[in-house]
Amino acid sequence: MFAHQGRYSGWIEVVCGPMFSGKTEELIRRLKLVQIAKQRVQIFKPVIDDRYDEAYIMSHSAQRFECEPVSTAKEILDKIHDNTRVVGIDEAQFYSEEIADVAVKLANRGLRVILAGLDQDYKGRPFGSMPTLLALAESVLKLKAICKVCGGLASKTQRLTTDQGTVVVGSGEAYEARCRACFDPDLSVERAVPALPLSKKKKHEPELVKKAEASL
Ligand SMILES: [Zn+2]
Repeated sequence: MFAHQGRYSGWIEVVCGPMFSGKTEELIRRLKLVQIAKQRVQIFKPVIDDRYDEAYIMSHSAQRFECEPVSTAKEILDKIHDNTRVVGIDEAQFYSEEIADVAVKLANRGLRVILAGLDQDYKGRPFGSMPTLLALAESVLKLKAICKVCGGLASKTQRLTTDQGTVVVGSGEAYEARCRACFDPDLSVERAVPALPLSKKKKHEPELVKKAEASL
C-alpha cells in the first residue's frame, strides 16, 4: 500500500475499456495476487449482471472468483468486514453515482479499492459514474480489445442489435469491440460488416485522412 507519513493509506484503482478487452481478467489477476499475500478481499458485482453464476465474477475466458451480488452501491459499505483490506468491484458502470462516494469512503478508511468497468456505452458516451471514478482514482488502466472489423486496437463497444436502452446485458452475440474508425454508434451499417482482409485494410484509411483534412 502507499506509505503516507508513516502510515498506510488506501487508494482507488480503475480498470476500464470496451467489452472483450480483458477487464475482468485483469481484476481477477490483481485479486489473486492479493489472496496469495493472504490479505482479506471482498468482491462485489451489481445484481443486474446475471449472465453467469450469481455468486461469481467470471471473465469471458471462464476464470471465476467468488463475489457478493449487491443491488446498490451503498450495500457495499454495509457489507464490508472489519478485517477487509482490498475491495474488488466489477461492472462498476452499472452502479448509480453513489459508487464514487462509496469508493472514496473505502479508500479513506485505508482500503485498496479496485473497480473494473466499461468506460463508454454503446454510443461511445462516458458510462455512468466511470468518468468520476477515473478522475478520483490514483491509478487508471485503459485496456484495448481487437477491432472485429479491421483488426486494429479497439476502444469502443459496438452494439449489433437495435434494442433500446443503455443496459443490455449479455456477451458475444449482441456486441463486438471496434476501433474508432470502424465504430458505428447509430448502427447505420448492418451488423454483417465483412471483416476486411489485411491486404485491403488500408482502403478506408485514405478516406479518413481526406475527411480529417477537409475538416481542418
Ligand atoms: Zn477497426
